[in-house]
Amino acid sequence: MYDRIYNFAAGPSQLPLEVLEEIHKDLFNYKGTGMSVMEMSHRSKMYLEIFNETKENLRKVMDIPEDYEILFIQGGATEQFAAIPLNFFKNNKADYIVTGAFSKKAAKEAAKFGEVNVIYDAGPDYDHIPTNDQLKFNDDADYVYICANNTIYGTEWHEYPKCDKPLIADMSSDICSHVINVRDFGMIYAGVQKNLGIAGLALVIIRKDLIDGHKENIPQLFEYDNQVKNDSMINTPPTFAIYVLGLMAKWILSKGGVKELEEVNKKKAKLLYDLIDEDDFYKGHARKDSRSLMNVTFNLANEELEAKFVKEAKAAGMENLKGHRSVGGIRASIYNAMPMEGVEKLVAFMKEFKENNK
Ligand code: PMP
Repeated sequence: MYDRIYNFAAGPSQLPLEVLEEIHKDLFNYKGTGMSVMEMSHRSKMYLEIFNETKENLRKVMDIPEDYEILFIQGGATEQFAAIPLNFFKNNKADYIVTGAFSKKAAKEAAKFGEVNVIYDAGPDYDHIPTNDQLKFNDDADYVYICANNTIYGTEWHEYPKCDKPLIADMSSDICSHVINVRDFGMIYAGVQKNLGIAGLALVIIRKDLIDGHKENIPQLFEYDNQVKNDSMINTPPTFAIYVLGLMAKWILSKGGVKELEEVNKKKAKLLYDLIDEDDFYKGHARKDSRSLMNVTFNLANEELEAKFVKEAKAAGMENLKGHRSVGGIRASIYNAMPMEGVEKLVAFMKEFKENNK
């Protein structure tokens, strides 16, 4: 009806059609206000309703306990790479587990502010996630840092590190894709432009007792304590992105919650991985035990064949399948909003492509 394609982009990425239709319906006149959400004051009664409802629905969706704060912060996930050490450093030491490009960047940023110990580096291939017995934590670390899902390499933690320090996880590319226990973490954060909406906003979920008061030498927008005291409104928040996040939270609830989505996500990923495992035509990048449910990465025999694959897929209505520029190959990002039919169509295309090119 809208002549849309299946968009396999890693982020920003495809939104559910129902959410786009809701935005469209509200765009010129939100609930009789005579204006769109984009035009509303962030302090207005109507906007505060949207803002508070978004938080309440997120609490339901992720089962966020009352002793965790929910913050909406501009600057994307990358800003948190600096905000985390600035807020959490006391001994000025932290343990980082580097499993891909974004944990590497986060470790590099934190090292500007204190001692970063990379206690495990999955490089150079970044095709796996370490097991708990491969990890040795430092007693005086202020926190332990992981990236839950490696968007570029297509690996994902299936068993989180067991440590007695606050565990901080970047869940930018797998938030709300499978059930987690928020209590396992001191802080969870995500740029929301993959699984929870549009660019311009990071969702930060943080245990209250870890926010331990005002810090003199931190830029005010980076200070979690300040963000909490001002309910994420030290300055104008990204109002529209928060509204879309709220719609995404409602959409997840309408689908039966994260548990239901997890089942669908497992089925979607299995369709692709089963085909990859059939023979050597498609070569999966991630080790089997570390495979991501969200970003499926694989190679073909050579770059020419990969380019042909991407071109023909595009002609068949499936876009953005080229792997990240740093690693190449193919990457199919199949976040919550990618319907089963999109993955089925990709799998059918891959089977045909294999027949025609082997
Ligand atoms: N972490 C992960 C896991 C990501 O995939 C990305 C973006 N692709 C980032 C961090 C950086 O996010 P942002 O662009 O919102 O700063």
